[in-house]
Amino acid sequence: MVSFRADVLNLLRGLARGGLLSPVQAWCTQSGQTRVVEHDGNGWVGCGQGHRHWGRHGAAGLLLLDQRLEGELWVLLQHRAEWTANGGTWGLPGGAKDSHESPVEAALRESFEEAGIRPAAVRVFDELVDDHGGWRYTTVLADLVAQVDLIAQAESQELRWVQAWAIEELPLHPGFARTWPRLRQRVRSRQ
Ligand SMILES: [Zn+2]
Repeated sequence: MVSFRADVLNLLRGLARGGLLSPVQAWCTQSGQTRVVEHDGNGWVGCGQGHRHWGRHGAAGLLLLDQRLEGELWVLLQHRAEWTANGGTWGLPGGAKDSHESPVEAALRESFEEAGIRPAAVRVFDELVDDHGGWRYTTVLADLVAQVDLIAQAESQELRWVQAWAIEELPLHPGFARTWPRLRQRVRSRQ
């Protein structure tokens, strides 16, 4: 059951991630609650390519594939809320990796928090690292192996299954736009 308090915490954490509220402010707002600051990866950091990224220890996202629908390859995309970084673009569920997490653990945790995807419904088969020099984004590639009820949290306008061929027609998050051709290659080479 998702409680009202959990919703509020999710919203605060989302605001912090979007740069609208620092994690410390979020924590102070929720004085006595430690859930918001348990994510020690939260924070902005620069990379060797001159970008600014969310995730002090890097970040990870989930490329979730479903090939059961009409025999086509479908990918789960997140339409990012307007107030987030790169708001309004389409990308993958994911976010900052904590220091104690593997990229797979981070991607699965974020996917559950942001989209309600249970780890048990996912079978990971590959990882792809986008190394910016001093900062890395790991895309975790996985198959959907069980029914999931998608739950869009505050950071998502929408969660949608999109056919692979149609992805490039959407306004994509710049990070996802950069890695999608390599990801598609990985997926194709497996088939
Ligand atoms: Zn970068």
